[in-house]
Amino acid sequence: MLFLTLTWRKRMLLRLSAALLSSLSFAAAAAPGSHWTYEGEHGPTHWAQLDKGFAECALGHAQSPIDIRDATPRADAPDLDFRYQATPLRLINNGHTVQVDESDAGTLTIGGHRYALAQFHFHTPSEERVRGKAYDMVAHLVHKDASGKLAAVAVLFKAGRENAALKTVFDNMPLGAGPEHKVEGVQFNPADLLPKQHAYYHFQGSLTTPPCSEGVAWYVLKTPVEASRAQIGQLRTLYPHNARPVQALHGRQVIDHP
Ligand SMILES: [Zn+2]
Repeated sequence: MLFLTLTWRKRMLLRLSAALLSSLSFAAAAAPGSHWTYEGEHGPTHWAQLDKGFAECALGHAQSPIDIRDATPRADAPDLDFRYQATPLRLINNGHTVQVDESDAGTLTIGGHRYALAQFHFHTPSEERVRGKAYDMVAHLVHKDASGKLAAVAVLFKAGRENAALKTVFDNMPLGAGPEHKVEGVQFNPADLLPKQHAYYHFQGSLTTPPCSEGVAWYVLKTPVEASRAQIGQLRTLYPHNARPVQALHGRQVIDHP
């Protein structure tokens, strides 16, 4: 009987702690800021109100994305030196986009400054516009230097031929949001996503998702690559529209490197 009582007590304790845990995780899920979207009451125009930490989304004066026009030609701007290599494919569907996490996939060096590739992910349509025009999709390759400073490269996609590199990523896309998973036996080289020409537009900007932190050096490659409509549709099935609207320039200069 004593045994049964203890067991019952233990069960109650377990139930109570389970209830407490689930109420805590519910509180975490319902906390302001943990839930932002691309439309409606948690959409881009409300991001700053969702969390104190998101203030820069509204108050920042160097926000991304932008509509690129009136860029200043600068042939002497540094070239982008991509040194990427193949590594095992690690994918995450984080509830906002599909992302490939990278740790040893190589570096991007700009004017002697070296950044390591940290991850890349996708938006549809493209967040950046060029003279008002959005592309069908964009990949953002996010790089970090030793001090944590970010350099982001945008690869624009237009509908056309099937993209073999993209196929490797999209055919392994997790359909529901969840933790990162390694795709067994599949290697991926991010260099295969890049166009042959690395001419770019450059400006100072921010993360395009909350907390919209500034200090991100952006390089938008001028040459788009192609993906088939079916491939773009694969992303749109999961995320029909995951692009932040263009932000005010506030006097920033845009460099055009041919
Ligand atoms: Zn992005």
